[in-house]
Amino acid sequence: MATGQALDAEVIVIGAGVSGIYELHRLRESGFDVRLVEGGTNVGGTWYWNRYPGARFDSESYSYGYFFSQEILDEWNWQEHFAGQAETESYLNFVTDKLDLRRDMRFNFRVKSIVLDESDDTWTITAEDGTALRSRFVVSATGVLSVPYWPSIPGRERYQGEAHHTGLWPKSGVDFAGKKVAVIGSGASAVQLIPEVAKQAGELVVFQRTPNWNSPLNNGTITDEEQAEIKATYDEIYRSCMNSFAGFVHSASPKRTFDDSKEERWALYEKLYHQKGFAKLISNYRDMMTNREANAEFSEFIAEKIRSRVNDPAVAEKLIPKDHGFGMRRPPMETGYYEAFNQPNVTLVDLRETPLVTITEAGIETTAGEQAFDIIVWATGFDGFTGALTRMDVIGEGGRVLREQWAPGVVSYLGAMVPGFPNFFLAGGPHLIAGNFPRAIEIMVDYITGLLEYAREHGHTVLAPDEEACARWTEEVHAVADIALMAENSWFRGANIPGKANEYLPYAGSLTKFRQRMAAMPEQGYPGIVFGTPALV
Ligand code: NAP
Repeated sequence: MATGQALDAEVIVIGAGVSGIYELHRLRESGFDVRLVEGGTNVGGTWYWNRYPGARFDSESYSYGYFFSQEILDEWNWQEHFAGQAETESYLNFVTDKLDLRRDMRFNFRVKSIVLDESDDTWTITAEDGTALRSRFVVSATGVLSVPYWPSIPGRERYQGEAHHTGLWPKSGVDFAGKKVAVIGSGASAVQLIPEVAKQAGELVVFQRTPNWNSPLNNGTITDEEQAEIKATYDEIYRSCMNSFAGFVHSASPKRTFDDSKEERWALYEKLYHQKGFAKLISNYRDMMTNREANAEFSEFIAEKIRSRVNDPAVAEKLIPKDHGFGMRRPPMETGYYEAFNQPNVTLVDLRETPLVTITEAGIETTAGEQAFDIIVWATGFDGFTGALTRMDVIGEGGRVLREQWAPGVVSYLGAMVPGFPNFFLAGGPHLIAGNFPRAIEIMVDYITGLLEYAREHGHTVLAPDEEACARWTEEVHAVADIALMAENSWFRGANIPGKANEYLPYAGSLTKFRQRMAAMPEQGYPGIVFGTPALV
């Protein structure tokens, strides 16, 4: 598109997931001329693509949804403490319609490139079909888990049966009834999927490379009394999420592990095991993620639970992680996961004992031989945090390509801007606070919206992060990650993607402190941002 042509919008938001929906609303309310483009056919983002059986929240529903509209809080009734994919997708459609956002959304627009025109500091966003839109500002709300990853196991293309990735599940559903099914992977998606497939499949074989520390989600239907209680305490729920370390509703324990006797510790672990969701991590002793001995003890407690739930001791041992402690990789939450391995139609293949060799026309070959399958499910994860941004050709100042700039490691300013990419914002990408993502994303969207309002008020149309501020922030991201016990082989470190720099990708600092820091930015005149006017308007 030639320089000087009219803009299609002042701001273009990319992605209609949790962050894009909120960003579109905030910017429109603030009077910006804004459009949103989305690759799918409807809203939902992660909750649009990940419609595999068993997909659900593991943050409490009422802590995951939006808090900005009293009307939405009043009108929407969550059905389960941890909503399933269908309920969440309905919720995001409800919000979109309620706020009349659809008129500014364009679907089936899969972005291929985002290119800066340095002559007038505008961006051209081009879809895979060649359609191009031009705007002054771009907000990438492309999510942290939106690029499915298929490992390069030889032969994948020659398989003749049905194959699906959990992150790209067909809308029409998959019929497992009586079929012989393989699931590759044992991360959070597989842990949710496996018990559901086990109920339907004739035979299910799980191909596990690394077991995870899974613990009960303890989901349930929300009763009328609970619903009334939730509605009456939304302010409190919101406050406790925003004043917590990672945005969850659970309160942190002030105690250290070895302040208590063994009986007291075991009593707390037992209580936590029966509490909802991430209480096991967050309401645990405060040194569980920093003191190796403390972590080892809680891991042993969970190991005992696994042994008590899996009938075959040899299978139980294979399901117990040996290379990392609880919480050192993102711990999945489960419902009947371990019991699935007691079913006669379910088998576990330990890929450490018998590694994958190839995918064949009929199925999967390991060093123990070939098995034929009707369906293979790839629960093999995502190119997390950066994948959605490095997948596209994002081209900034001097022709620099974001993918290449980040190859040795991510550098950002507050996870919101990138050096050399003026007027380009991230509503949720690398350096986003790890935890209850909607709460972290909300901070980012509020920051970006406030920054654009500030620039408008002060007549600035070019915004770029200061290189020094970027370097300092990136150092902080790495420094805070060093405090906690974290496994090297986690997707949080990009370790699941061959060739990706191994570095901690989210921000491991406190959400409360980060929120306070971001809230103070307007009165400080947005430090770390260099404002200007375009070379040519
Ligand atoms: P994941 O945690 O990255 O798990 C991918 C699985 O595929 C791992 O078990 C991995 O084994 C396996 N794998 C990858 N390459 C392989 C290979 N070449 N051979 C054999 N196995 C291979 O992905 P995910 O389960 O989709 O979960 C990703 C994240 O999404 C979660 O951590 C969570 O944050 C989010 N999630 C959230 C929810 C929720 O909120 N309820 C649900 C699902 C997912 P290795 O471990 O050995 O690499």
